[in-house]
Amino acid sequence: MENFLGTTEKTLKQYFVEWGVAPYRVHQVFTWVYHKEVRDFDLMTNLSKPLRQKLQATFYFSLPGLQEKFSSSDGSVKYLFSLEDGSTIESVWMPSDDRKTLCISTQVGCRLACSFCMTATLGLKRNLTAGEIIGQILKVNEDLGENDRITNVVVMGMGEPLDNYQPLVDALRLMVSPEGMRISNRKITLSTSGLVDKIKDFQEENIHVNLAISLNATLDEVRDQIMPINKKYPIHVLLDALRNYPLKPNRKFTFEYVMLAGINDTDDDAKRLGRLLKGIPSKINLIPFNRIEPGDYHPPSESRLLSFQNYLISRNYSVFIRKNRGTDILGACGQLAAQSSS
Ligand code: SF4
Repeated sequence: MENFLGTTEKTLKQYFVEWGVAPYRVHQVFTWVYHKEVRDFDLMTNLSKPLRQKLQATFYFSLPGLQEKFSSSDGSVKYLFSLEDGSTIESVWMPSDDRKTLCISTQVGCRLACSFCMTATLGLKRNLTAGEIIGQILKVNEDLGENDRITNVVVMGMGEPLDNYQPLVDALRLMVSPEGMRISNRKITLSTSGLVDKIKDFQEENIHVNLAISLNATLDEVRDQIMPINKKYPIHVLLDALRNYPLKPNRKFTFEYVMLAGINDTDDDAKRLGRLLKGIPSKINLIPFNRIEPGDYHPPSESRLLSFQNYLISRNYSVFIRKNRGTDILGACGQLAAQSSS
């Protein structure tokens, strides 16, 4: 038996060919599941009884279990989910005036060992299935009222998404599919620490979600220290891959830059960043480090942050300071799950 949530249209079509069922019935099943939110094949009345029985014998429906839920004073809600094997993952729902964004996880833990990241302390326990990835969105929507339904998704929680490639791609296809979750590709952002080979593979998939790059340094020696993946894909290799990436018109890459006091927040860093990103359609998010205990890093001062931002604005970049959400509820990626597994 397999979880229907996470099964792609392509896979279901293969089953239907095997069973001698007309492929257009895939559309009917998907409409029941994703548009009418029916999770019982017996209720799918426009399908024949034998087909319903076959589906029932092959698939089940499983969503992540809601283990705990924490509401922050800033309006965000952090969900701690338990999976079928007892692993825990987290998702953060962040409302703003015009959108409701869910940050979702793709792995239990992560193996990339970024030194400023709480998830890294878990190591990689396992990859999530496509069903567990989209299940976070389905479960949060189920939990929230109609007015709070998720409009935007950021794939930026626990794990390096491109390190869990095929389940991620399947999950994204289900998210953007008109037969599936019908989320506009413009409203989904995939964040990566810069797995260059996988970025190249991903451009062949034709799934035009937004790409965010977790850059966080302007010198290889600094990035090597805080993001060891840089030893494999140094900054210029990563940026060259982005220069060759077939971005859709009017789209930009988002560069995430976690600011660590005294490490990557100097005026020289701002100048180098401006030079490095020259010619790349870019938007920059500056993220003051979200202090976790125990930790060697500190957030930059307000004046340092503003000076960094102002320099880049003077070089005509769009630069935003991203407020940490849910800092009172352990809002940084991996903090809750790391705590619950300790
Ligand atoms: S920052 Fe992202 S890629 Fe790096 S260790 Fe944490 S989860 Fe993994």
